[in-house]
Amino acid sequence: MSVLLIAEDVDDIAMILVRLFRRDGMTVLHGADGAEAFDLAVEHRPDVILTDLGMPRMDGWDLLKAVRNHSDLRDTPVAILTGQLQPGDARVSESGACCLLLKPCPNDELRATVRQLVENGPHGHTFSSAGCLSHATTSL
Ligand SMILES: [Zn+2]
Repeated sequence: MSVLLIAEDVDDIAMILVRLFRRDGMTVLHGADGAEAFDLAVEHRPDVILTDLGMPRMDGWDLLKAVRNHSDLRDTPVAILTGQLQPGDARVSESGACCLLLKPCPNDELRATVRQLVENGPHGHTFSSAGCLSHATTSL
């Protein structure tokens, strides 16, 4: 069974996301901030990470950095889900994220993106190239 880790500090959004992906048959873990999510990632080695950006203690950028610098987690596919960025923001590809999803994101697009990342599996990130999920409408 695929394991999805969600880093999201807003309870209502987290609950909706957890429910959505559990209905899809995934094992879903939830960290209420980047630090908690990182601990869960180290412990459970999720197949895909879906992270918000603005979070207390450790934000999404720092979570990405920590994941990409961790020897066992560095190739984990990561999608950013935020309302704070514009499409094409260079920081997304520089951070080593696979793609950017903008809130509010339709459920179908959320599902399709996470499914695609699960299928793609672990892969390296160069930090400077365009996001690696080329099929998604909001990818970079
Ligand atoms: Zn990627």
